[in-house]
Amino acid sequence: MRFSKTFIPTLKEVPGDAVIPSHILMIRAGLTRMLSAGIYSFLPIGYKLIRKISDVIREEMNAIGGQEFHLPALNPKEIWEQTGRVEAFGDTLFHIKNRDYVLAPTHEEIMAFHAKGALKSYKELPQIWYQIQTKFRNEPRPRSGVIRGRQFLMKDAYSFDVDFDGLDKSYEAHDQAYRKIFVRCGLKYFIVGASSGAMGGSKSEEFMLKSDAGEDTVAYCSKCGYAANVEVASSIIEPIKREEKSKEIYEISTPNVKSIDELCEFLKINEIQCAKSRIYIHDNVPVLILMQGNEEVNENKLNSFLGGTVRPAHPDELKEITGADAGSIGPVGIKMRIIADLKLKDRNNLFSGANKNDYHIGGIDFTRDVKNIEYADLRFAQSGEKCGRCNSKLEVFKAIELGHIFKLGTKYSESLGVRYLDEHGQDHPIVMGSYGIGVERILACFIEQNYDEKGILWNEHLSPFDLHLVGLNLKNNETKNAAENIYKELTQKGYDILYDDRLDETAGVKFNDADLIGIPIQIIVGEKNLKEQSVEVKIRETGERIKIKLDELKNKIAELLKK
Ligand code: ATP
Ligand code: MG
Repeated sequence: MRFSKTFIPTLKEVPGDAVIPSHILMIRAGLTRMLSAGIYSFLPIGYKLIRKISDVIREEMNAIGGQEFHLPALNPKEIWEQTGRVEAFGDTLFHIKNRDYVLAPTHEEIMAFHAKGALKSYKELPQIWYQIQTKFRNEPRPRSGVIRGRQFLMKDAYSFDVDFDGLDKSYEAHDQAYRKIFVRCGLKYFIVGASSGAMGGSKSEEFMLKSDAGEDTVAYCSKCGYAANVEVASSIIEPIKREEKSKEIYEISTPNVKSIDELCEFLKINEIQCAKSRIYIHDNVPVLILMQGNEEVNENKLNSFLGGTVRPAHPDELKEITGADAGSIGPVGIKMRIIADLKLKDRNNLFSGANKNDYHIGGIDFTRDVKNIEYADLRFAQSGEKCGRCNSKLEVFKAIELGHIFKLGTKYSESLGVRYLDEHGQDHPIVMGSYGIGVERILACFIEQNYDEKGILWNEHLSPFDLHLVGLNLKNNETKNAAENIYKELTQKGYDILYDDRLDETAGVKFNDADLIGIPIQIIVGEKNLKEQSVEVKIRETGERIKIKLDELKNKIAELLKK
């Protein structure tokens, strides 16, 4: 492809609204342009990459027997009401004014609609149906470029089976296909699994990637592969020893001290000597939760520990419940259920609130001064703590979801009446699975993992072209002829080449664009080297430059691209 005839509007400057590397580089390298918040256009080389990724996905989906569909994005609202998902999606669902349509954020309903009455017999099952199609979600505050678009391309697949054993097999096939897809796309991913243990087992796995652009925080062990959202992740913590002697309990006047920081400052103590109090309302009954001063309550863990409905008490409820406002609440003498995090287990010489504004209590011994205290893991796992599975060190970081496989079970077939007849003529709901991958997200995440200060670093897994041919000073006939010949010959050899044939751009502009666009191998044709019948080959990632004789170029390129 000739640069002069291709729309590749590269930019020197960082676009104003872009903050994460992939967003900045996709705009600067001319892959995308923003139309409106969360809505992006793909330009020729950006779209070329989207097609390459889609092809990889398609090949792996076809390899497990997937059949490609193309469903409408515009859906009658009625069918979404039947499954309760107009409400479940809430503001994320785009509605069409004046008519009862929605723009589909995913396609479980529509695939189930087509399966209904069409897959009548066990003989027609199993099936895997998929598509690569545009989805619409009114994401609040989309700031990460195409990683979180309001319109985005998803590969969504759905499996239809006679029973849960069948579903297990379809799920397993997708699990394997997904691993292959992400490996082929060159992504360093990990898997976060979740099993709800509900009847029929609604197992799911998320394929995730470490990225500051992510909105999930996960704990990950690179040794054994344990990975979990910090909302559920557990870690091994060293028990904190009791101090040798328990002090007498004593009250301290702490005027205007409202936070743990202020308390530590005022008493010249460390946060870890404090028991931080939080009141929650569990099924209408107050509960006191105690955390070590530097830790926050993990509400997800609290919810699973307590069951039922749990919410933090409102500030204006606190005084009535405890006699004090937030900042002066504590466990001594309080009459309610008390649950403390494991880090506080059997500790002594602790500080906490006195349930009286502007007073705290010191010398608290949980084994002596607080009766019927329960202990539970209520904290967030942190980097450096030990992995509960293999004892090695956990890392906690932001991550982003690339794909998701999910055992739906019969939720949609029940609500939409998707049933089949077994060999005895008995009818049953079809058992479904659903499996999604964000296509643009793969592209952006690849860039998140492969860039440097000059631009993108494509590699053998993913690149818009095999080679970037840079012709310098093409107004000179000799260089022009040499560059054109190389372009022609290597194209005939089957290489896909971006040929910078622009007449009026300087060498500096061409070099910068080549580094920004980031094709792994650059062939630079210039007067000086041509005098010695040579060209220069630059390896984009390392910056290494190799002088190569014209008649050895083909072999050298073949060698380099094989590596
Ligand atoms: P997230 O937690 O990131 O919002 P999700 O759980 O809503 O993702 P799914 O409904 O499981 O995502 O969709 C399947 C896949 O579609 C995701 O794994 C992701 O790769 C992609 N995806 C989801 N939302 C977006 C979006 N707003 N922009 C781009 N890709 C998206
Ligand atoms: Mg989402």
